[in-house]
Formats: sequence, structure tokens, C-alpha cells
Amino acid sequence: MTPDKELTDLFLEMIKIDATSGKELPVAQFIMDYVKALGFEAYMDGAAERSEGNSGNVIVPINGGGDFLLMAHMDTPSSTKGVKPQLLEDRITSDGTTILGVDDRGGVSAILYALKRAVNDKKQIHPCTLLFTVCEETTLAGSIYYKPTPEMKYGFAFDSHMTPGKFVNETCGAIAFKITVLGKASHAGISPEKGVNAIQIATKAMTTFPFGRIDEKTTASISIINGGTATNVVPDRIVIEGEIRTEQQAQGEEIMAKVIQDFEAAAAHFGGKIACSYIWDFTPYQISPEAIPYLRILDVGEKLGIEITGFKSMGGSDANSMNDKGVQTINLGVGAQNPHGTNEFILYKDMQTNCDIAYTLLTD
Ligand SMILES: [Zn+2]
Repeated sequence: MTPDKELTDLFLEMIKIDATSGKELPVAQFIMDYVKALGFEAYMDGAAERSEGNSGNVIVPINGGGDFLLMAHMDTPSSTKGVKPQLLEDRITSDGTTILGVDDRGGVSAILYALKRAVNDKKQIHPCTLLFTVCEETTLAGSIYYKPTPEMKYGFAFDSHMTPGKFVNETCGAIAFKITVLGKASHAGISPEKGVNAIQIATKAMTTFPFGRIDEKTTASISIINGGTATNVVPDRIVIEGEIRTEQQAQGEEIMAKVIQDFEAAAAHFGGKIACSYIWDFTPYQISPEAIPYLRILDVGEKLGIEITGFKSMGGSDANSMNDKGVQTINLGVGAQNPHGTNEFILYKDMQTNCDIAYTLLTD
């Protein structure tokens, strides 16, 4: 099956735009020109302040903006500069030197072309908002910054790597933490008694850290340790970074509190101090089969004859930020196979299905 030539061409045009996180402006301009040509107004919000990039999110309110979103992100995980797409019999791949950029130009082009089809077909388009975000691949800065209207209730992100029809309706959340352990420097050989060894403090604290899988739904890791200056100096400062993933926000807070407590106790034991900071990189969400976006995607599947299945994910995306804002958002599979790799590809049939799903959400 080959998709509409115009859809393929749009995708190929979009992947050639080199725009990694923080440098989305050329994609933003492309999108704004594209929707303007179809008769829609688009504007850019102030997300660049937060992302410290060159572009804000692009927002396209349709028929008043409505109560739901179709969204995709503008950045790619690495550069697509010089991408040489290979159009094979059933798929498009890169030539292996760069990524292809399906994540997430596949999502962006599906939404844009669905809008164009709806206009060309003179369909009644539901009031809704198209949202194209910045920095999904790095900090989710765009979706975190985005300010939904009070009417906005639910959304569909076109950004999961799974095949179309599969979607994420449940994810864990992730805490990123940083603990600075402060001791006291001294000569390690001449006067170790005068020093407080920050590594010793951390070592004691780490004996009770819940490394790895805590339970079916929870994991924890200390993944980076930096510190020390020379072998003959008692280290006075080390910095430890790690993460906690959990499906329950309260449980994440509890684990974090215990970790801090253990580090504080170890520091007190040896006469040192700690400073800890943590943030939720993304918060968990669960969307039930009775919720509107779930029901709507089931309906779309029935109309298009696609099997629809919800999945749980241990990763975060823009959908997490939306759910955190009270906009119930599921993350739809776009069929980005081997995502982030230079062997990334998309099947033509998946490309077409993505667009059909967007079209049905817009018009049906
Ligand atoms: Zn993505």
C-alpha cells in the first residue's frame, strides 16, 4: 500500500528540515506557513523562554480552539541534516548515516496533511487545537510551558513509537534528583582526622538506597557520581545524581524523602552535610477506558477497521505534561520503528494510517 503522494512528499520535505531541540524555528515557520495557506491562523507562544531555544510552541486554534488537542513535537532527537531518505517497496528509511526523523515529523506531517485533506474535502472540522511543541526530546519544556485554555479537556499526541492503533494510556512518572554531599578537605595521609570524607558519607548512605527494581511499578537508580580532587586529599564534596520512576506520585515522594533522610543521617554520623534538590521530569498518568480520549480512539479504530489497544509505558512524553495540567491525553503510536537510531524507518501503510486517524479525529 502506498500512501497519498502528497503525504509522502510532505513527510520528506519535513524531515529535511534540520531542527533538534531548542532549534525548532524552521519547522515552526514551515507549519505556520502550511496552515496559513489553508486559511488558519497560527501563533507561537513564549515557550522559548523556558526552553532557552529559538522557538516557542506553535498553536493553531481551529474553529475557536475547541476542547481537544491534536499534538506532535517539532524537534528530532538528533540532526537530520543531509538525510537521504530511501524509498523502498514498503517503507522509507534513511541511508544509515542519519536518523530518518519519523519521531516526530511523522506525527507532524500526519496532522498537517489530515487538516489539508479535511479542507479539500470540504468537511466540517471539529473545533479543536493543533499544538506543535518544542524540546520534547530533552526536557519537555514546550509542553510544560503550554497554557491550555479553560475549555481544553483532552488530547491526542502523535508521538509513540508503537504501530498505529496502539497507544499509551498509562505511564510512570520520574523524579530526577541531585544530592551534594559536603565533608571537609584535609591531607589524606598527614591529617585524615581533620577531614570529613564526602565519599565515606555517600557510601554509607548508599547501602540503603533501593537500587534497581523496587516493585513491578517502581525503579530507582544512582547513575552519576562526581567528586574528589586528588588521591592525597580527603574529598570535601561529591555530587550524586539519579532517578526514581513510579506510577504513584505519593510513592515517589515517599521514596525520595527516605533517600534524603538516609543521606542526612550518614552526613550527621560523620560530621558532614548534604544539599538535595529534585524535580519531577514528568508525572505519572492513568487514563481509564471510560475516559473521552480512550472512547474516541476506540471509535476511530472501529471506523477505520484498526485494532486499538492501550499500553503502559515506563517513559515520559508531552502527554505527561498535558495530563499534569488536567488535559487527559493519550499518546498514539505512529510506527517510528527503531526510533532514534540511524536504522529508523516507517512503513507507508503506517504513515497513511496516522493521517487517517488524525483526519477522523478532526472530522468525525
Ligand atoms: Zn518523540
